[in-house]
Amino acid sequence: MQYSRRRTRQVQIDHITVGSDAPVVVQSMTNTDTADAAATARQVKELSDAGSELVRITVNSPEAAAKVAEIRSRLNDMGCNTPLVGDFHFNGERLLAEFPDCARALSKYRINPGNVGKGAKGDEKFAYMIRTAAEHGKAVRIGVNWGSLDQSLAKKMMDANLASAAPKSPEAVMKEALIVSALQSAQKAVDLGLPENKIILSCKVSAVQDLIEVYRDLGSRCDYPLHLGLTEAGMGSKGIVASTAALSVLLQQGIGDTIRISLTPEPGSPRTQEVVVAQEILQTMGLRSFTPMVTACPGCGRTTSTVFQELARDIQQYLREQMAVWRNQYPGVESLNVAVMGCVVNGPGESKLADIGISLPGTGETPVAPVYVDGERKVTLKGNNMAAEFLAIVQQYVEENYGEGGKKRAKSRVIPIQAA
Ligand code: SF4
Repeated sequence: MQYSRRRTRQVQIDHITVGSDAPVVVQSMTNTDTADAAATARQVKELSDAGSELVRITVNSPEAAAKVAEIRSRLNDMGCNTPLVGDFHFNGERLLAEFPDCARALSKYRINPGNVGKGAKGDEKFAYMIRTAAEHGKAVRIGVNWGSLDQSLAKKMMDANLASAAPKSPEAVMKEALIVSALQSAQKAVDLGLPENKIILSCKVSAVQDLIEVYRDLGSRCDYPLHLGLTEAGMGSKGIVASTAALSVLLQQGIGDTIRISLTPEPGSPRTQEVVVAQEILQTMGLRSFTPMVTACPGCGRTTSTVFQELARDIQQYLREQMAVWRNQYPGVESLNVAVMGCVVNGPGESKLADIGISLPGTGETPVAPVYVDGERKVTLKGNNMAAEFLAIVQQYVEENYGEGGKKRAKSRVIPIQAA
């Protein structure tokens, strides 16, 4: 498959490179109170362990800003070097001025031009934040949001539109205002001394078609890397589906250099879910590999017990949990493909295509489960201990193939990416 990324400048955020042919970066955001340094550092570590390559934290008050350096140092002590992005609204210039440790400890600042302030005062505050970033060599994301668009700019553009000979729809003007706000703010930042290779842009909206339209347009009008995300995506399957629909279309067109899935977590569910979804979008599209994938059939009337569903779930969970260790021990294991199939109809065929596959017995079939390794039938499992025995086969396969001297070690199935 030929896949071309949009050519952009590259932005370095500590050890993470963003833009052009660098891999699309997975980002996430904490929901702890930043003033609680221990809880925030813990959650950043969890997000990072799940695979988040940049983590944003809100810096909304003096209490929060005062703890940013401590959060950084706690993370360093835990062996976590994931760059921290500070999310500033309304009072960013004051917090950066009063807490220079915070300004230094962050790796990137996120500035929303709609929430900096109005008129000359707003310009001054924006300039202070940009100069601070430039002085400390930090990257900046200029992040415009539909819900907090610079109202004076929007009004000016609406008035000009009404006075024009062929007025556009108010929605079209608002989308244009989002893009103009991002581009004008980026130009102001450059004029203030921030190098162009320190700037990333985003223009987030909450409707799928609007997001696609805005990003296509924005991408064609600048060469800054773009951060993608459907803002306020929502909860559960709706949030996942809406984000996937929007981001997949853009990523397929080579647009998007970092992504975040803005899921509202279900009560009690882990914050790391947004990282898993972001990784799964990139991996199922064949753009990056993070965790071994499980191919499982949906089940049907031929599978009347839950054995097969439980096995598919347990294996997916096992593989994801193992990655914290496997990632360093077995390079390339993220490309492993495991099939868990419910019956003899498609089971052997899919199992043979995977690195390791198991075809469970459907209703009325002999209660045995053939296991295929690299396309060959290796063993047939039976009895109540099939799940544990299959996991042992997976572990052995990983050690033999991705350990020292293994024939699949460090091989990657990531599609070679070319910048357009
Ligand atoms: S593989 Fe068998 S159990 Fe699974 S969906 Fe197909 S027919 Fe049904």
